[in-house]
Amino acid sequence: MVDLLPAQSESWQKVESIARTHFSRAGLKEIRTPIIEKTELFSRGIGEGTDVVGKEMYSFDDRGGRSCTLRPEGTASVARSIIQHGLLNKGPQRLWYEGPMFRYERPQAGRQRQFHQIGVEFVGLASVISDAEAISIAWDFLKDIGLKDLTLELNSLGSNEDRFVFKEELKEWLEKRFDLLDEDSQKRIKVNPLRILDSKNNDTKKLLHDAPSLNDFLSKESKTRFDYLQNLLDDLNIPYKINYKLVRGLDYYSHTAFEITSDHLGSQATVCGGGRYDNLISELGGQKTPSIGWAIGMERLLILASDSILTSRSPDVYVIHRGLESEKLALNIARQLRSINFSIELDYSGSSFSKQFKRADKSGADWAIVIGENEVLKGQLKMKRLRNIGNKDGSKEYIFSTGELDKLIAKLNT
Ligand code: ATP
Ligand code: MG
Repeated sequence: MVDLLPAQSESWQKVESIARTHFSRAGLKEIRTPIIEKTELFSRGIGEGTDVVGKEMYSFDDRGGRSCTLRPEGTASVARSIIQHGLLNKGPQRLWYEGPMFRYERPQAGRQRQFHQIGVEFVGLASVISDAEAISIAWDFLKDIGLKDLTLELNSLGSNEDRFVFKEELKEWLEKRFDLLDEDSQKRIKVNPLRILDSKNNDTKKLLHDAPSLNDFLSKESKTRFDYLQNLLDDLNIPYKINYKLVRGLDYYSHTAFEITSDHLGSQATVCGGGRYDNLISELGGQKTPSIGWAIGMERLLILASDSILTSRSPDVYVIHRGLESEKLALNIARQLRSINFSIELDYSGSSFSKQFKRADKSGADWAIVIGENEVLKGQLKMKRLRNIGNKDGSKEYIFSTGELDKLIAKLNT
């Protein structure tokens, strides 16, 4: 588990705030579900044969003997909540969520046991436009964060029927080559043969070059749907690459599956994963409800974010003071300026003025307010511009009486 330290939290807040802007512009509403759910929700929703359910969940019995799990992803919880509260009675739900997820994986760069996802779910929408809209929201958001060299990989997993026929064919093909498969893939043949397609094992990858392709098993309807999605993305100028081997880790997907990957992430290359899940809500006891969604891994996103996101914000004003009476005045002035939305940092060192000025410089503030015993006696504040901005003269000093704070504020705003 990883701490998020003060040096990073500001960048997280910026990313979250940009995400909120994108979501509210798209008319999405936020949903917050609990971090703990019944284990059964995930084993039914995500699927027993998946890595997530098979070996990555943090599950425990609570004091009432109920099996509980720290959520490994957000979609199943959102689906549960929608069913439980009958939200679909009000029409399709276009939602977003954010928060910690838990998976027992081997920690490495871009892979943690507690990580954070920001995700979007369109529940109750079947049209291909909703696929394109969901994808475009993810794409535009990532671009806005300053991510470069992104690739949108796209596939169609077809309908349940398409996949059923393909699965049998693939199973047969794989069973004939059982001895050539890596151990993990051998185990998967029975429970989840599709997952073998995105095996990371190099020998298996090579072998799979000649394997039957899901694309050849798509019905005419599924193909038309997939073509239309590509058509819409072309129209939106969102570039994509078809990857017939893209299957995604969770069981509930059908038709559209996609990932957004980056060249700059090494082996944990996927920033965003998503797809259509027309069967999940009915699997969990609701009505048949076509849906599409995606999730972005915040940690990976932050690894890729541009410098403008990663630089931290400086205070507007650094308040320098020496002596007991000065301290009181400093605290008072800081409070007044904060109440009108200036960000103020107070010095706490009590050291010499020159040392405090060094700190002020280091803080990145544009201004220093200086309060010494002299200033208190005269009822004055000294203010100094700490840096040259444009053609404004750095290191220039201004004096204001404590009774005319409005003049000081006017100066701060220049
Ligand atoms: P991967 O193939 O990298 O394990 P996944 O298919 O398991 O990804 P999803 O379940 O689709 O991932 O989750 C969506 C996104 O959440 C991923 O693309 C990734 O950015 C992020 N993510 C998933 N697992 C982790 C993790 N353990 N640590 C950090 N981020 C993660
Ligand atoms: Mg994974």
